[in-house]
Amino acid sequence: MRAPVILLLMFATTAVQTIAAGNADLFSNTESLLPPVQNWTGPSESLIVAADDPWITPAERSQLSATPDYDETIAWLRKLVSAAPELEMVSIGQSLQGRDIWMVIASAEGAFSSEAMQATGKPLLLAHSGIHAGEIDGKDAGLMLLRDMTVAARRKDLLEKTNFLFIPILNVDGHERRSAYNRINQRGPVEMGWRTNARNQNLNRDFTKLDTRGVRALIRIFRQWQPDLYLDLHVTDGADYQYDVTFGGNGRGGWSPAIGNWIEDVYRPAVNMALSENGHEPGPLLFAANDMDMQDGFLSWLGNPRYSNGYGDAIHLPTILVENHSLKPYKRRVLGTYVLLAETLELLAGEQDSLREATATDQQRRPPSIPLGFEREQTAIAKVVPFKGIVSERYQGQVSGAEVVRWTGEAVTETLPQIFISQPTVMVEPPAAYVIPQAWSDIVDRIALHGIVMEQIEQPLTSRAEIYRLPAAGIAEPSVWTPNPFEGHIRIDPGEPVKEEIETTFPAGSYLISTDQPLGELLVLMLEPQAPDSFLQWGFFLEIFTRTEYAEAYVLEPLAQKMLDNDVELKTRFEQKLASDDAFAGSPYQRLMWFYEQTPFYDEQYLLYPVARIPQPK
Ligand SMILES: [Zn+2]
Repeated sequence: MRAPVILLLMFATTAVQTIAAGNADLFSNTESLLPPVQNWTGPSESLIVAADDPWITPAERSQLSATPDYDETIAWLRKLVSAAPELEMVSIGQSLQGRDIWMVIASAEGAFSSEAMQATGKPLLLAHSGIHAGEIDGKDAGLMLLRDMTVAARRKDLLEKTNFLFIPILNVDGHERRSAYNRINQRGPVEMGWRTNARNQNLNRDFTKLDTRGVRALIRIFRQWQPDLYLDLHVTDGADYQYDVTFGGNGRGGWSPAIGNWIEDVYRPAVNMALSENGHEPGPLLFAANDMDMQDGFLSWLGNPRYSNGYGDAIHLPTILVENHSLKPYKRRVLGTYVLLAETLELLAGEQDSLREATATDQQRRPPSIPLGFEREQTAIAKVVPFKGIVSERYQGQVSGAEVVRWTGEAVTETLPQIFISQPTVMVEPPAAYVIPQAWSDIVDRIALHGIVMEQIEQPLTSRAEIYRLPAAGIAEPSVWTPNPFEGHIRIDPGEPVKEEIETTFPAGSYLISTDQPLGELLVLMLEPQAPDSFLQWGFFLEIFTRTEYAEAYVLEPLAQKMLDNDVELKTRFEQKLASDDAFAGSPYQRLMWFYEQTPFYDEQYLLYPVARIPQPK
């Protein structure tokens, strides 16, 4: 089996080389294809140390145009940690290719365990870079800041007031898939890593299902260290505009409204001011409403819990998603990230109490109904806000045969509609508890990784319960699958499940999981069929979509005839169905199945979602 694979690989390599030969110059210099770069200079440039500084970082050696590989990054950090008593480095897990995922612990007191750190009483910031390894600005900013907080003593004040956990590269295997050709829309560094991990999984879609080692390691850090604030550092794709550092939480109207308000009212103004003072151009997270340019306004988005910011919102962990603008040169982006990190620590020192109060409010909140997802509000109610844009025009592309955007590079201040993706898709009343049968313990294991408290019942439990039956789109095969695999899963659109109320006895060994806990909303978002990041929609319950017992026509035909003879009402319904549904009338299989479904021989567990809800007491 090996030989054909090798042959195929050789063939593919040859093909790529042939294509590259004619256009090698073009591919190695795409600058002329990108929108014009904006000249920039700012006070934050003074953060770069002199060429002869003994603690110059690998990226600074290139004037922030290149980023070091994994080995060089870790070697530099080891040297720093051995010189700085305030630092320690720990491996928080291993990647699929066997690399350690390193975290630097920074504490003025040398409090290198979570218990010791909590005893300091100081606020804790957790930040990581490289969940998408090609978007690596945060790593090089973090190295500079760790130096300045310790051996260089420029920002020692920050560690006197706060504690800091820093994961320079989360997706370490993706980071080592280095190339100059990984992100065509991004201005530097010279070589960068790849978006996904060694199995092509996107870590920033993995926060609920937890397939990847990287995100599992991160969730362990959340649970063990309980940071006050968490930063996930990225770089954008998409439209051009003047902003260089865009950031935000998950809006005011999600699952943690008090935290959402804190981020908008306390965090954003302070960080905006620090960035502006250092010559940067801060902005909110931005997505072009028409996916091309800003003519139709921009979207402000409420992420589902598969994403870091949606997950943080669902578990009441204050979370900021940072998206540096991909068209700004690497140096400007790294310096902006440094300023943002430093100001975040500064702000945490002063606003520790207000943040902890907001977090406690959201942790204690038990809303009577929970939005399962969000969609775009009507454009008509969008508010119009000032926007620092770049002039764009459209032209007819001869290759695509469609209109294409060209960014002119000319700065323009305009007003644009800000359209929120904040309209709940479905609201559900959380049950008092969910019950998961023992046979689905793999789901239970994943739920437990999040830190959700549960109990495995030792005695049978008789209770009123609600169960969902999924609609069958067709008799032979439900047509609810997504056509292509996504993140290694076949996703399911469950349509509108039908809720049935029953009185039942759950056997001993079943898992009883109360929603009355701080992670209750996350639990609802993972178990309600209509939640986009439910285990059902991620394809973890595929088995229930297959019918496994059969009835032969030689039994069903005489059975159906006798049922008709015995039941006038059934006969009327059958005749109505024949008259109103041509496909049904024309299908011998469907006609017999219609009767089979109305017998006790039919599989009553077919399309039955195995997770039950125990309703709230009335
Ligand atoms: Zn990203």
